[in-house]
Amino acid sequence: MTAGGSFDLAVLGAGPGGYTAAIRAAQLGHRVAVIEQDRPGGVCLNWGCIPSKALLTGAELVENLRAHGELFGVSAAGGITLDYAKAIAHSRRTADRLSKGVESLFRKNKITLVRGRGRLAGSNRIDVSGESQGVVEAGRIVLATGSSEWTPPGVQVDGKTILTSREALESTRIPPRLVVIGAGAVGIEFAYVYAMYGAQVTVIEMAEQMLPGADGELAQVLEREFRRKKIEVRLGTRFEELKRVNGGVRVAVRQGEQAAELEADQVLVAIGRRPLSKEIGLEAAGVEVDARGFVGVDERRRTNVASIYAIGDLAGAPLLAHKASEEGIAAVEWLSGVERPPLDHLKIPACIYAQPQVAWIGLTEAQARERYGDELRVGKFPFTASGKAVAAGHTAGFAKILAEPRYHEIVGAHVIGAGATELIAEIGLGMTLESTTAEVATTPHAHPTLSEALMEAALAAEGRGINF
Ligand code: FAD
Repeated sequence: MTAGGSFDLAVLGAGPGGYTAAIRAAQLGHRVAVIEQDRPGGVCLNWGCIPSKALLTGAELVENLRAHGELFGVSAAGGITLDYAKAIAHSRRTADRLSKGVESLFRKNKITLVRGRGRLAGSNRIDVSGESQGVVEAGRIVLATGSSEWTPPGVQVDGKTILTSREALESTRIPPRLVVIGAGAVGIEFAYVYAMYGAQVTVIEMAEQMLPGADGELAQVLEREFRRKKIEVRLGTRFEELKRVNGGVRVAVRQGEQAAELEADQVLVAIGRRPLSKEIGLEAAGVEVDARGFVGVDERRRTNVASIYAIGDLAGAPLLAHKASEEGIAAVEWLSGVERPPLDHLKIPACIYAQPQVAWIGLTEAQARERYGDELRVGKFPFTASGKAVAAGHTAGFAKILAEPRYHEIVGAHVIGAGATELIAEIGLGMTLESTTAEVATTPHAHPTLSEALMEAALAAEGRGINF
């Protein structure tokens, strides 16, 4: 099939960054083409955020029945029947449905979808090969090719015994013993899913805490809760080698001076992602990348080539879907001359959807202490003191709000517990509005809700907590 033509804007990649940028550009009156080699929606809709959340919902249901059901007279003592293949089928159907949704948004916004692999052939031209062939010319180009799983040298992913998240999202097998390498968001979410569906799971993490980089207190509670769920967590443990043996895998690890081997039926490698910046013709257009292959951009997502922008995972951390979308919208608005606020990565929430859920925004307590010293205001509220959490039987975790000393403006929030990923949005809006803890504290929150924990944390930061 031949495809192509001349456009105001061409977007390479239809993930959450690219498809959102394309729609915003169409709204602003541009003639837009999107070049996509796979299914619209990118990693997020097809192999990331969405299908994994479908599986997590199932895992949570299993845990609720097993661990919390008794509280409400719902007994799983007679056993419950688990069919993980059905959960995978639901997860794949969900991804399909949402990907088709993106295609219909393209039609609605009169965006040309060019199906094929794109490669820059200059500062205003993309050559397309594969499913369709042709040339797309455009006044401006937004690069949004995202990232893919990174595996260490020597590790061969076969989709059967050694998997990344990509293979795991299609694999219907729950192995008796799973080793997850990496306690970042992806590793934690899969560890939880597999454990709830019956695998004996061990998580290995090189850093001294789960969720490296996150607030230490959050990570500690998460670790404690994972151990309670009988998920083994080995911190400060470096993965060294994988060996296939007798249909399984032997995982060589090192903790300090001590070497050990773990036996597993499957290994999930979740230790990072690499930008898809090779083979997209960056050199043909003269676009520069950093040492790790991320495309270099300025605060307006412009690359060093005037007509070319880069957004999302391709343009660096944090590798999150909502960061990609926000950058897509911002880049297109700026190139269209729309006035808008600058991007602020500190105000991008991070969420992990295992149970307990984890969510945070802004500075960690350690970072905030470094900036504000002992004057930092910290308000904390445990879910054991939340009426709604106690009623629901989900009392693990806390909400913590950090505020700077002068005006008590919120500079960070950290929540672990049921509903954390929804709760964090309130603080996101608060930080956009430069809200203070006094303002959150004096905003009536419906009772009983989990969101009261934020109000109580804000009250505690003001030195006048009521319920704790
Ligand atoms: P991508 O989503 O990677 O999309 C890039 C697109 O470009 C792809 O469709 C690809 O096919 C296409 N492409 C690449 N090269 C070419 C080419 N040469 N020609 C044509 N097309 C090309 N983030 C969250 O915010 N929340 C979550 O809960 C979450 N969960 C995740 C769970 C997992 C298991 C994984 C792996 C990731 C998760 N992420 C999550 C991260 C999120 O998926 C990414 O940050 C997000 O997809 C990045 O969006 P993007 O638009 O930059 O790139």
